[in-house]
Amino acid sequence: MMKCINCGYVTSYERIICPKCKSEMKKVEENNNNGTVILSWKLYVTPDGNEEEYYINLISLNGTKALCKSSSELKEGENVMINGQLCEKIT
Ligand SMILES: [Zn+2]
Repeated sequence: MMKCINCGYVTSYERIICPKCKSEMKKVEENNNNGTVILSWKLYVTPDGNEEEYYINLISLNGTKALCKSSSELKEGENVMINGQLCEKIT
C-alpha cells in the first residue's frame, strides 16, 4: 500500500506521486492495520478549562476488537487505518 504523506490518500497501486495533490507517496506496511468502525463516541477532556475533544472508536480488526482515538467522527462501517493509538479514515 502506498500512502500520500501530504493528504493521506491511500492506494494499493505502486505510485510515487499522489494523484490527488501531486505530493510524494510512501510505502506503508500492509500489516492488517485496517479495520472497520463498529462504534464511535465523542469524549470531552477539559483539563485546565481548555476545551478539547476527540473520538474513541471501537474497531473490528482481524476478527478481534480494538480501540483507537481519532480527531474526527467516524461512522459505523467506515474503513480505517490504525496507527498506534490513533486511527484515521481511509479515503
Ligand atoms: Zn496527496
